[in-house]
Amino acid sequence: MIPYKHEPFTDFTKKENEQALLEGFKTIEGYLGQDYPLIIGGERIMTEDKLVSFNPANKEETIGRVSKASRDLAEKAMNVADETFNTWRKMKPEFRADVLFKAAAIVRRRKHEFSALLVKEAGKPWHEADADTAEGIDFLEYYARQMLQLKEGMHVESRPGEYNQFHYIPLGVGVVISPWNFAFAIMAGTTAAALVTGNTVLLKPASTTPVVAYKFIEVLEEAGMPAGVVNFIPGSGSEIGDYIVDHPRTRFVSFTGSREVGTRIYERAAIVNEGQIWLKRVIAEMGGKDTIVVDNDADLDLAAEAIVKSAFGFSGQKCSACSRAVIHEDVYDEVVERVEKLAKETTYGDPIDNQSFTGPVIDQASYDKIMSYIEIGKEEGRLVAGGVGDDSKGFFVAPTVFADLAPDARLMQEEIFGPVVGITKAKDFDEAIEIANNTDYGLTGAVITNNREHIEQAREDFHVGNLYFNRGCTGAIVGYHPFGGFNMSGTDSKAGGPDYLQLHMQGKTTSEML
Ligand code: GLU
Repeated sequence: MIPYKHEPFTDFTKKENEQALLEGFKTIEGYLGQDYPLIIGGERIMTEDKLVSFNPANKEETIGRVSKASRDLAEKAMNVADETFNTWRKMKPEFRADVLFKAAAIVRRRKHEFSALLVKEAGKPWHEADADTAEGIDFLEYYARQMLQLKEGMHVESRPGEYNQFHYIPLGVGVVISPWNFAFAIMAGTTAAALVTGNTVLLKPASTTPVVAYKFIEVLEEAGMPAGVVNFIPGSGSEIGDYIVDHPRTRFVSFTGSREVGTRIYERAAIVNEGQIWLKRVIAEMGGKDTIVVDNDADLDLAAEAIVKSAFGFSGQKCSACSRAVIHEDVYDEVVERVEKLAKETTYGDPIDNQSFTGPVIDQASYDKIMSYIEIGKEEGRLVAGGVGDDSKGFFVAPTVFADLAPDARLMQEEIFGPVVGITKAKDFDEAIEIANNTDYGLTGAVITNNREHIEQAREDFHVGNLYFNRGCTGAIVGYHPFGGFNMSGTDSKAGGPDYLQLHMQGKTTSEML
């Protein structure tokens, strides 16, 4: 088999690539605004009640109207998934992996269609949409290969006269609740990990981006996934979210989203409900308050660029986004000045024509929250760039920088999930690391320095799941930078890493006397 290599990113300055994405837009124009059913056991069920997915850059444009599951339908989906588990768990791992390989090939062929859909449904700039699609393909390829290795089990010793084996078996029905910010990659990755390991799935995609998830289920079906393995049940948290998390037949929950919802799921999943005969497992990837530290001996242009790109890429709506910079006092004024200049040059607007670096934020609630933090920032620090928004047509917020913040300011502590970065000063490198660690989170971080000792110090003491040196803090690649964080960032599970699939399985020891 060809060794795994990540999907290359598309260079849209090349005419033929630009043309390919424009073709993608044409393809999706053919189905924008349609109604979509739920999918339970392969059966299409249209409901009256719909989630309306719209373009965040242009509120008037409907992407699709997706059927919402009621509790009864969620129950039906659970029964089907529970039943299907009996056969799916016995399918050969090779079969399950082949579904993923084939799905990757299909998405690769339709890559620019998926990216075009992400531009419209999630408001992603072209290069971010392309990276999202590429990452989804990577998850499919990587987890399929991982499964082929895992099926062998692990070596254990045997004494004379006995034969011992250790294998991984699936868990059961998994509830996958996926986010809108990587509406394709994380949705596809968390679903694929659960199913390739032999579990069946109830997929509840983010309510703002359900159409791209529906398209992915079609791909899985085309790739040969049997009916009932992944059941597509969009819906609201209050109507079905708690219900499926609490369900006694749910064996595990794989969640990516906010700290608030993740904590709620973790608490609810800990309760053993009537008829339940296991302790549920939770895989949670939650927020971040990610810091770039700039040392006094550092490439200051690189520092400013790393801060600005990591803060404003996809409008700061990544849990890996840089939302804080901690700068050594010797270079503070110079770095702030460079960040100000770059932030003011950072363009934002409707991503459709690929003219801006970044696009809108996802919806009204998000816009309102970000704008309220901008008001808080004006009280807490010095507004250096941005600070304005416009929600008349879509949800646009200018790339915003606040400097001179106290390390414990709300802007330096609370996740905003928008294009806002706060800057603070440190008197030396020790203090910079101390400040970098002073949040509840521990997802990503970066250090810009030429000092080898400081690199080693940060490697030991900067407590984040993904630590980068002399680069930005976003853009982890499947199979290269296993992704996931510490503390309130989640359950330390590393998506796209060598031990991720095991989280969806349990080890079984057999010992035979010969
Ligand atoms: N894996 C992404 C990155 O490294 C972030 C994922 C997320 O925001 O949930 O930028």
